[in-house]
Amino acid sequence: MNGQCPPSAQDLQNCAFFFDVDGTLAEIQPRPELVFIPPATLAALDRLQAVGVPIAVISGRRLADLDRLFEPLRLPAAGVHGAERRAADGRLRRLDLDLEALRQIEDELVQACARHPGLRLENKGLAFALHFRLAPELEEAARTLAEDFSRRHARLLTLQPGKCVFELKPRGASKGEVIREFMHEPPFSGRVPVFIGDDLTDEAGFQTVNALGGHSFKVGPGETIAQRRLDSVMAVEKWLDELVRPLKTEVYP
Ligand SMILES: [Mg+2]
Repeated sequence: MNGQCPPSAQDLQNCAFFFDVDGTLAEIQPRPELVFIPPATLAALDRLQAVGVPIAVISGRRLADLDRLFEPLRLPAAGVHGAERRAADGRLRRLDLDLEALRQIEDELVQACARHPGLRLENKGLAFALHFRLAPELEEAARTLAEDFSRRHARLLTLQPGKCVFELKPRGASKGEVIREFMHEPPFSGRVPVFIGDDLTDEAGFQTVNALGGHSFKVGPGETIAQRRLDSVMAVEKWLDELVRPLKTEVYP
């Protein structure tokens, strides 16, 4: 089912949009550095902002990485699954973590991953990702390793499975929680939240917007608590384009 929401330019003006990035606004690529936001999507986001509709991106990537992807836009954003957040007024907030402990965990992970050539370890500063997209046969090895680390460092980290990745994210980092934080602040507060995401980490975001009376969209197949579904990244691009089209002609000619 493809949802049409919000259906009119009128409703659009009452909404606040939260977008996941990889697998939602951008096609997943063999390597994360190859990912790009389609120009039509960037133009649609720019248009939404220009008419005063608040937007934020809610991603597993780091904030710096998100800024590079969305250039020249610099959007309010939450990175590393909510472990870091830049509010609309530019204020930065990071989860307070034991950085020395994280450094030790990284050393351990580097050693453990060296036993599995093809497994790619990404250090996100506040989290670690074990990517097996280029070596799918390593899925079980990656799972075992990630489960072991999340168990031994349960005070700090929690396991977040994703598409071809197992992540060790900071305990307390949640996409649902950061959406709630944005919704308590201007220009988001008082609006109807809309969240679009594609992966397991996004379910917490769906839960929050559902609870706040908003609209949740899951991109692609898979079980979800989202209310509506968009089939693909391309469907998101088309939906966004249709959403902003009336703004160009009727509301803001
Ligand atoms: Mg995603």
